[in-house]
Amino acid sequence: LVLDTNAVVQFDSASAQMGMRLPYREVRDVLLGEKVASYGFHRIERGNDARNGFSLRESSVWAVYYTAPITADGVFTGAVLFSVLLQDVEDSVSLIISQIAITFIIIMFAMILATFMLSRIVTKPITELTTAIRAMGGHSRGVRVDVKGPGEVKELGEAFNRMSEQIEDHDRIRDEFVSNASHELKTPLATMKLLSESILYEENPDPALMKEFFSDVSHEVDRLSSVITDLLRLVRFDEGDAAFSPVPVELSQVVERAAERLRPLAREKSITLTVDARPATVNGEAVRLEQLVTNLVENAIKYTDAGAVRVRLYQEDGYAVLRVKDSGIGIPEDAVPHLFERFYRVDKARSRGTGGTGLGLAIVEKIVNMHGGFIEVESELSKGSTFTVRLPLILDGGGA
Ligand code: ADP
Repeated sequence: LVLDTNAVVQFDSASAQMGMRLPYREVRDVLLGEKVASYGFHRIERGNDARNGFSLRESSVWAVYYTAPITADGVFTGAVLFSVLLQDVEDSVSLIISQIAITFIIIMFAMILATFMLSRIVTKPITELTTAIRAMGGHSRGVRVDVKGPGEVKELGEAFNRMSEQIEDHDRIRDEFVSNASHELKTPLATMKLLSESILYEENPDPALMKEFFSDVSHEVDRLSSVITDLLRLVRFDEGDAAFSPVPVELSQVVERAAERLRPLAREKSITLTVDARPATVNGEAVRLEQLVTNLVENAIKYTDAGAVRVRLYQEDGYAVLRVKDSGIGIPEDAVPHLFERFYRVDKARSRGTGGTGLGLAIVEKIVNMHGGFIEVESELSKGSTFTVRLPLILDGGGA
């Protein structure tokens, strides 16, 4: 609508209020120059009867009037009035609200569905895992889970399977160990029982024979005792490195000492034992290191019938290298990977005959590992074997 300065409608785009005076507050506001724009809400009559003041409740609607002055060269010449039926606005607002509501409900359902599915994906494998862990706690073995689901859950499942496998391995090794150990302990006991019974049931045992029998029994007792000593040693190592308190040790002295103690054994078998030990200091325990050298040199002498055993100690690339080389019977290639297993022997009869327990190299490997070193074997049948141990050196002047 275009109004003149008296608020009389001069033009109405809807042609409904032409010539009418509109005494509204917002019209007055702008015509008096109090505001540059103003608005108000009014109930207006719909249709042509509005002019007669004839109104039906149903046909009256709310409208918003927005008014702004018309000025020409700084003089008020009237006002424009823009009218919009609020019904239309309300209709579109309610349409928007209902659309938002529908969208919201759809999203909510989608989210509930997604949450439900996701929780099933996540919780199902976890429930499976829990069942598996319970089963393992109940001493079932060979428990595996079928790993599905998102990345982390899959990883958890795989970790569980690995752990389950390791526990099985451990169990198997322990069972094997126990059965081997019992066998090792039973054999000398059975021999002793046999020997003592044969004397027991003899009417008048020959003193010379008895002497021989008792010396055999004594020999079996020695064997039993050395198996037990070695077993205890290994068990003590298994208890962990807590008991390991390394200090700087001059390895050449340890090597000399061990060789000196074994010299009579070499002489007895007419084996030349040569030692060439250069200074080398390592972090470790002298007693255990001496055990290591002793076991290796003793084996070299034991498994050599005639010839030489050569022990060398030198420094190389930050390591103390101990090399024990013999010209003995050698080790078959397929036996090499098993050498360090407990109770493993290439030739059981020979090992027993020489008082071997089958634990010597297992002990050697343990000692090497706890000193942060490693061990290698080279061997050729009937030519001889070389065992090489490398232990980290303490460098001169260095504290570590
Ligand atoms: P054992 O008490 O029987 O000597 P070890 O653990 O010390 O036990 O050695 C395991 C086996 O490895 C021995 O029984 C022997 O067959 C073999 N072996 C070890 N050292 C040598 C060697 N220097 N030459 C040949 N065979 C060896």
